[in-house]
Amino acid sequence: LETVRLLSSSQVITCVLNVVKELIENSLDASSSRIEVKLENYGLDRIEVRDDGCGIKTADVPAMALKHYTSKISCHEDLEHLNTYGFRGEALASICAISEVVVTTRTADDDVSTQYTLDLNGHIVSKRPSHLGQGTTVCVMRLFKNLPVRRQYYSSSKKCKEELKKVQDLLMAYAIIKPELRITLTHNKAMFWQKAKVSDHRAALVAVLGAASVASLLPFQHRQEQPQIAIEGYFPKPDSDLNSTSSSTSDKTFIYVNNRPVHHKDILKVCFEICDSFNCSTLHVDVNLTPDKVQVLLENKSVLISLYGSYSVGNDVHI
Ligand code: ADP
Ligand code: MG
Repeated sequence: LETVRLLSSSQVITCVLNVVKELIENSLDASSSRIEVKLENYGLDRIEVRDDGCGIKTADVPAMALKHYTSKISCHEDLEHLNTYGFRGEALASICAISEVVVTTRTADDDVSTQYTLDLNGHIVSKRPSHLGQGTTVCVMRLFKNLPVRRQYYSSSKKCKEELKKVQDLLMAYAIIKPELRITLTHNKAMFWQKAKVSDHRAALVAVLGAASVASLLPFQHRQEQPQIAIEGYFPKPDSDLNSTSSSTSDKTFIYVNNRPVHHKDILKVCFEICDSFNCSTLHVDVNLTPDKVQVLLENKSVLISLYGSYSVGNDVHI
């Protein structure tokens, strides 16, 4: 059983990036306005994600890191109207199986925060009062301690640096889609990247990409019924340098489906031709494809693609 658990957990959590993604999605689901991500030794020694969200109710604490426990859906129908990032109840359980996890949390009703130490099975082994404000801090130490080959693989300095860059890119993706969110990334106690609270998506793009890149973007909106689709985004002006299909464009392309950053090769292909980022907010979407939910199936994909076909291609962009 231990081995099965280790194998399935190590598929959900394959790298530092996955851990950070799962933890910040939990923070966002908790309606946080501020998230601090602190890494030590590129996250291999310690990943800490602190938020000022709703905290975990004492009643939910014992089950929080048990496999398939989630406080986010209570019945099957809820799956049809997902508006949280998490719903599988897999992340904390999987992270516990491959590292040492300490969770500190406090809700608005609690007088003090409580720090819980978890074991490999996600059970609480000790708890003590602590002094943090409202919200939740999850500390993940010695990632892959029981998967020495994987730990070794991620320890090379090339891999470490790539991973830190990917974490930064991921935080940028959330920073753009959540303008009000304050977010910081610290590595070995030094500030690595941060984004302040701003009021709208354009200001968030400026904060993340810089004013020069954003100056050449134009806003775009499309809404239709039957099938119901809403697309919003910022696209490079037809004559701008950004409007090329070079590989550097893909680094600066942020795609979201229902506020979820995604990689979708068909959409990306179309985006390459006409846009730098867009957001489909009411598209029917199946995020149940891969555990990390980065790949999605779009029910209306063909409609979307044909729609984009008519807006594209090359020189003639209608905004
Ligand atoms: P899921 O996000 O799919 O529900 P997780 O394993 O990521 O599953 O988290 C399990 C549960 O722990 C969540 O449903 C939530 O109740 C609680 N939780 C985890 N992180 C936080 C957080 N930062 N703030 C509030 N609650 C949290
Ligand atoms: Mg989660």
